[in-house]
Amino acid sequence: MPDAILALNAGSSSIKFALYWSESSGLRLRMRGEVEDMHEGGRLWVHDPDGRSISNEEVLRGPEAFRHALDWIRAHLAQDCLVAVGHRIVHGGAEFFSPRRLNRALIQRLAALTPLAPLHQKRCLEPFEEVLAFWPNVPQFGVFDTAFHRTIAPPASRFAIPRVYEEMGVRKYGFHGLSYEYVAGETATRLGLSADARVIVAHLGNGASLCGMQGGMSVDTTMGMTTLDGLVMGTRCGALDPGVVLYLQQACGKTAEQVQQILYDQSGLLGVSGLSSDMRTLLASDDPHAIEAVELFVYRVARESAAMASSLGGLDAFIFTGGIGANSPQIRSMTCKCLAWLGLELDEKANLRSGACISTKESKIDVYALRTDEEAIIARHTLPTLGGEGSSR
Ligand code: ADP
Repeated sequence: MPDAILALNAGSSSIKFALYWSESSGLRLRMRGEVEDMHEGGRLWVHDPDGRSISNEEVLRGPEAFRHALDWIRAHLAQDCLVAVGHRIVHGGAEFFSPRRLNRALIQRLAALTPLAPLHQKRCLEPFEEVLAFWPNVPQFGVFDTAFHRTIAPPASRFAIPRVYEEMGVRKYGFHGLSYEYVAGETATRLGLSADARVIVAHLGNGASLCGMQGGMSVDTTMGMTTLDGLVMGTRCGALDPGVVLYLQQACGKTAEQVQQILYDQSGLLGVSGLSSDMRTLLASDDPHAIEAVELFVYRVARESAAMASSLGGLDAFIFTGGIGANSPQIRSMTCKCLAWLGLELDEKANLRSGACISTKESKIDVYALRTDEEAIIARHTLPTLGGEGSSR
């Protein structure tokens, strides 16, 4: 059996994983899976590379669910064939950009960044210990979601607060970097966009952000120092008048922890609809508040896209990705209608088929819908880092 690399992508509501064979021709996907809805307990799904189901099991809630997934993987791997595990690490702060071998000391330093990504940092660091217990001799590596945005420079990276705070690291970092790196690679290869094309990528999932990129590099993004900024998300508010935070504390008597919970866990689609953070549920509902939540979501994608086109000095292509962006013709259609003045014109039939290019021939801006692949980027970075460590079998 060839060497295997396991890529783990622990998000706020699920853990996705993919297993690759490392072959002389490169990495080959063997299977991919997901432990869905870790908070409520749910299911372990595993698919082969063609999307055929290998496993679909009910699993226990919380950490048990992840252990079940690791057990499943171990049972399906020959002894000793796993040579590395790569993790998506959400925040690398001002210090960590290139992939790093993880150990307990580094995990502690990364855990200190938890206040910058309270929903995510803890979740993405947790699997380290679980994996260590399962495979004590297998090296683990961290690949940083913030790294892709290290090219964002002032003024885009700067907040208009006293400089002393910027010197302390209070600046825009940006997230969803693994997804943007994957899409940037696809723009050059699969989509054939010119090297200097100005592209907006809309990663619309439970977390959501935009990235303006040119030459495959991030120029600006809607998320900031934390994962709270920018678009309306499943449970996060996105960009908000900072005076609201003060009002919640000073006039409503909320503690800092309560404000954090309101803005990260109770806002966004959930807060506005009062129904669900899940876009599929909202789109299927005729509740007026659900409809308003979807309208606000789209309004803000369009508004931030216009701002992003300004950061790029124009626009050549617009790419939808993420769970909502890649799968929802309705949200794509609503968004493109709001952006028609910028020159986006959808081919509604292509949009329904979710083909890669979904704009008309006449559209001034090419519009695409793409499935992202964060796990592929984790594995691609893990492999050479493993070589650099000299720890391959
Ligand atoms: P995460 O940020 O946790 O990785 P995903 O990118 O998996 O999230 O996106 C989850 C979101 O995608 C949920 O709101 C879900 O409802 C939405 N979604 C998935 N499939 C569809 C679909 N066919 N139509 C609309 N929304 C969808």
